[in-house]
Amino acid sequence: MTLPLNNAQRYVPEAINGDFRGKHIVTVEQFAPDDMDSLFKSAARMRTRVQRGDRGLVDLCLGKVMATLFFEASTRTDMSFQAAMLRLGGEVISTSGGVQFSSVYKGENLADTVRAVGCYADVVVLRHPEVRSSYEAAYYLDRLNERLGTHPVVVSGGDGVGEHPTQALLDLFTIADIKGSLDNLKITLVGDLLYGRTVHSLAKLIALHGAVNTTLAFVSPEMLKMPPAVMSFLKSRDIAVYETQQLDEVIGDSDVIYWTRIQEERFPLRADYEAIADQFIVTPATMARASDKAILMHPLPRKHEMGTQADHDVLDADQRSVYFQQMANGMYMRMALLAKVLGAER
Ligand code: ASP
Repeated sequence: MTLPLNNAQRYVPEAINGDFRGKHIVTVEQFAPDDMDSLFKSAARMRTRVQRGDRGLVDLCLGKVMATLFFEASTRTDMSFQAAMLRLGGEVISTSGGVQFSSVYKGENLADTVRAVGCYADVVVLRHPEVRSSYEAAYYLDRLNERLGTHPVVVSGGDGVGEHPTQALLDLFTIADIKGSLDNLKITLVGDLLYGRTVHSLAKLIALHGAVNTTLAFVSPEMLKMPPAVMSFLKSRDIAVYETQQLDEVIGDSDVIYWTRIQEERFPLRADYEAIADQFIVTPATMARASDKAILMHPLPRKHEMGTQADHDVLDADQRSVYFQQMANGMYMRMALLAKVLGAER
């Protein structure tokens, strides 16, 4: 059960500007290129330290508590945040059995639920079906701060069809990590660009990072085109964007192919979903038309947009498929972000 937001529009996100400490993370618009680069460096350091079993890491968030508040389904975001906090030496809490067993079930609104959680945790990771729900949480956590002098922060784990900032950070980190640079890339986003929050955040983050000679191509059915608000943001950042319904126009030249799931649960009309459900399926035959140096990304979960299980198995064995790297990088990126917002790392 979810209730309407009250004051989301009154919260203005703070630019990071080199200092993450105590800042709510609600949109990629908060990040400047230096902020992203410092997160990428930190995530790479976290990876090295975790992979070599470095015990020094466990102290970074010692004594800190992270709460997860997930009003929508999640595997990777929820568990990678939890694993990230545990690997930093912090503690993790959530309502037993998920939010359906919290007071939300009794009709409590987000403003109250988030303030209750904010009384117990230093950081609240929120996933919620309403666009800008994390803004609402940030607004009310700031009010709590005024009353109690505590300073819990919210980190968005996905706001409905709006944004998914930490996914975009891990995606861009993965691209930079594999490609060695963000310059001179043709990045193609495919599928449900209307309802897919990961592509909204990723396209904006790429534009915000700025890169020499990097361009975006958007491939989707007419009815699932990138929303006008994201398009005008990209225009304001001066990045070249090409929109088409024909993957074959761009696949051969793409350095990054970012595939997405058609967001079945977001369609107001079932018939609209059914009309396009079987379009935009990536199979080994599709990847045969891509270049050898291309990478195939997907935020996951995947359904039939990656064909059958047999197709999955072939694609998974293709060196160009990097969605498992994305998954692993998710934890390292979230470790980096948590350490920074909690002031454990500059
Ligand atoms: N896991 C991603 C998200 O939460 C992508 C998806 O669900 O398709 O937005």
